[in-house]
Amino acid sequence: MSASAITDLSRLCVHTATTKPWSLSIAAREYARAGIKGITVWRDALAALGPKESGNVCRAEGLEIVSLCRGGFFPHVDQAGKTAALDDNRRAIDEAAALGAPLIVLVCGAHPSLSLETSRKQIVEGIAEVLPYAHERGIKLGIEPLHPMYAGDRSAVNTLRQANDMCDALKSPYVGVALDVYHLWWDPELREQTLRCGKSGYLFAFHVCDWRTPTRDLLLDRAIMGDGCINIPEIRGWVEEAGFKGFNEVEIFSTEYWSGDQSPYLQKIVDAYRKHV
Ligand code: ZN
Repeated sequence: MSASAITDLSRLCVHTATTKPWSLSIAAREYARAGIKGITVWRDALAALGPKESGNVCRAEGLEIVSLCRGGFFPHVDQAGKTAALDDNRRAIDEAAALGAPLIVLVCGAHPSLSLETSRKQIVEGIAEVLPYAHERGIKLGIEPLHPMYAGDRSAVNTLRQANDMCDALKSPYVGVALDVYHLWWDPELREQTLRCGKSGYLFAFHVCDWRTPTRDLLLDRAIMGDGCINIPEIRGWVEEAGFKGFNEVEIFSTEYWSGDQSPYLQKIVDAYRKHV
């Protein structure tokens, strides 16, 4: 199934990290002015106003708060590290509740001195540990599989199949998946696992940007949609075929774009959204 063309901005969400130089207040105002309808908030953007007031500012601009980024980083070599990670995830859940965000995206973590299997086991244990706390506060947790280039230190969850398997193991309506085209576009099982994800009720979020070739930095060189090699409309088609009706969230980390004027960059994102998502 191929996705029908996007004709309006009603499902466009932008992550505050995309326009990192802007404060939350400025980002909310500028997003609303550009016709964007949703906002995902990074935890560092909460510092100035605190989570409750940050939520009020977004809603006053007419923006729907889609998620809080991010929790996770569960694997550690010692108990002190694991305990600190669990505490930090509970704090993130409190922040999401105060902000009014229904979902926390999890960058699950990996530790270079642990095997990937051990890291994945600790991730499932960590999510299971904080899950009752999230459930009580009505906050969902979205496992975001990361590209395998991050398997050494950012996430031992690198395919959608692994994330779906974790959701199967955890069996909770409060645990699902954030599917990011940047991390998963290369996966030969992507269509099959996207359909499994949606039909199992796990598909909580959909993130878009593009993969620049050659990539100049492993973390901070994401491209605007249409400037890379990802067939985003095809993947969006699979996501919609899987029953997803949520926001298409733009998440771009780019030292290049952060160093320039954010207003024309945001307009470029909106134009690219209509053409290339
Ligand atoms: Zn993402």
